[in-house]
Amino acid sequence: MRRDQIQARLAEFDAACLRQGTRRTTQRRIILEAVLSSEDHPTSDEVYQAVRPRIAGVSRTTVYRVLKTLVELGAVRQVHHSGGGVRFDGNTSRHHHLVCTRCNRVIDLEAPSLNQLPLPQASPGGFEIQDYSVHFVGTCGACRKRG
Ligand SMILES: [Zn+2]
Ligand SMILES: [Zn+2]
Repeated sequence: MRRDQIQARLAEFDAACLRQGTRRTTQRRIILEAVLSSEDHPTSDEVYQAVRPRIAGVSRTTVYRVLKTLVELGAVRQVHHSGGGVRFDGNTSRHHHLVCTRCNRVIDLEAPSLNQLPLPQASPGGFEIQDYSVHFVGTCGACRKRG
């Protein structure tokens, strides 16, 4: 994400916190900024490594808790892909993912044709669908080059 986009998202976050009457702490801001600046979809541990030099004495647990709060506030999304564990995504608009089965990288895919899929009518066990994202598995360019 570009520097000005990150600044805009941080300002948006400040406004959202104000509206919802929740605290806008420096810690939350730094952690959100780390997710937005990441080129990939970081795990909570990667976010922890990135913010450690900036937040004195921060723990893994704290970073995880703040990430959960950011998800609840709608500032960050959680991405689940089999095998890859939980990752966090600063891109909150609808988009899809390319998942590399060798290095577990998760790459954003903008594909407008996938944005209007008809939702299935069947809902096993009363499941209510709220949202969807398509993920394609395969091999990323870097891994293919390595052979
Ligand atoms: Zn790869
Ligand atoms: Zn994404």
